[in-house]
Amino acid sequence: MKIHEKVGLTFDDVLLVPKHSKIASRKNIRTNTWLTPQIQLAIPIISANMDTVTESEMAIAMARAGGIGILHRFMTIPQQAEMVQRVKRAESFIVEHPLTISAKATLEEASRIMKESDIGGLVVVDNEHHLIGLLTTRDILLAPSMDVPVENAMTPRARLIVAHRDEPFSNARDTLYQHRIEKLPLVDKEDHIVGLVTAQDLFKIHEHPEATKDQKGRLRVGAAIGVNPSDLERAKSCAEAGVDVLVVDVAHGHMDSVLEMVRILKKEIPSLPVIAGNVATAEGVEDLAQAGADAVKVGVGSGSICITRIVTGFGIPQLTAIEECSEIGKKLGIPIIADGGIRNSGDITKALAAGASSVMLGSLLSGTKESPGATIFRNGQNYKVVRGMASLTANITRREVEQQSEIDWDEWSEVIPEGVEAVVPYRGNLREVLHQLLGGLRSGMSYCGALTLPELIEKAEFIQITRSGQIESGVHDVTVL
Ligand code: IMP
Repeated sequence: MKIHEKVGLTFDDVLLVPKHSKIASRKNIRTNTWLTPQIQLAIPIISANMDTVTESEMAIAMARAGGIGILHRFMTIPQQAEMVQRVKRAESFIVEHPLTISAKATLEEASRIMKESDIGGLVVVDNEHHLIGLLTTRDILLAPSMDVPVENAMTPRARLIVAHRDEPFSNARDTLYQHRIEKLPLVDKEDHIVGLVTAQDLFKIHEHPEATKDQKGRLRVGAAIGVNPSDLERAKSCAEAGVDVLVVDVAHGHMDSVLEMVRILKKEIPSLPVIAGNVATAEGVEDLAQAGADAVKVGVGSGSICITRIVTGFGIPQLTAIEECSEIGKKLGIPIIADGGIRNSGDITKALAAGASSVMLGSLLSGTKESPGATIFRNGQNYKVVRGMASLTANITRREVEQQSEIDWDEWSEVIPEGVEAVVPYRGNLREVLHQLLGGLRSGMSYCGALTLPELIEKAEFIQITRSGQIESGVHDVTVL
């Protein structure tokens, strides 16, 4: 047995010491960072792989804002791969594999495909994939009946404006504008459909200039996987669907099974970056890095919905964990993601100043419109549900997904939860929540005289505070209106 002399600290135990600042405007402050050595982010924020936080809607909104979302894994493999595809299809310079339909299909069928895939048009092709028409939502809306075949409602090939696949991409915008059209099919010499450029995608490029995108202009997305044998198949399916990064995510990431899974992934899918966790010690980071992890997620017992420390007695206060893990991460060239326990923009600044490259947020984002699940109306206010992925109900969901059947009631009592189910106030659009958080971060960086995140780490100086200091830090001696 050993008792550490060092006291473990968390966000509320410290404050950042104000520094001389030459920053004239917060607009000059840059928050770009590295998720992994391969992926850059304009904002250091990741939405957590929890089933009440990140599905495709959240992942799309996060990537548009310049961060990234990690899809949770409490669903079947095809469902997760489909969510990856949804994000990858949300926007791109060129839609490489536009959804197609046959001319003989009914509008009913076309409408269903468009709704399911959340898109506004289908390319009509023959058996050899030649372009024979284009069908849009507008064509369907104007049609007299839904039983009509697609060929009666589509714009036929003869009336379509198309571009050749080798034409420079910059011409596409001019062509769309000249002809006042919304979709431009790309064809090869034999008139096979090979892509689609849409006005909406071009507009989005301007609307979200800082979006996190791959080389093809598609939004980036991550997917969580576990350490069961079937998780390799999960990883491969997500990779095929175009995922940008895999996150091997288990509560105790410093385990042989996690190290082994990281090794397997780096061997089987070497092109994909792998984030692994969660750990809270330098040894944990070192071992995961040695196994091949490109970035490490840090946080044991710090999450808002987490009861790991109460149930097991284990954990490390989060600021100390971030500081220790970042020190070794810096030596090894491994970005550290501070995961769990962040309640406001001040905590984000502290986590990044302590050395993390980015922060992962769970409950703070679970109240947004983009998180999965409906809002609940209670006592005159709207709420959204957030639950720990090791909570009782999440455990049951996972077992049901694995077994593809309902779990008997007597199995419920076998679960030892390490998380809880809860509600958080509804907070509106993600964009507005991020605006507040990033505004606070930029303001914090200016107190430190830091124009960039590496400068924040370099200049940051923490001071430990007492309980009286904590009370002084909050609103006190007034009644808040
Ligand atoms: P939050 O931002 O404080 O809500 O913490 C989110 C983080 O808590 C997640 O990214 C996970 O690392 C962690 N977490 C999620 N579910 C559980 C759980 O059931 N028990 C313990 N930790 C959890």
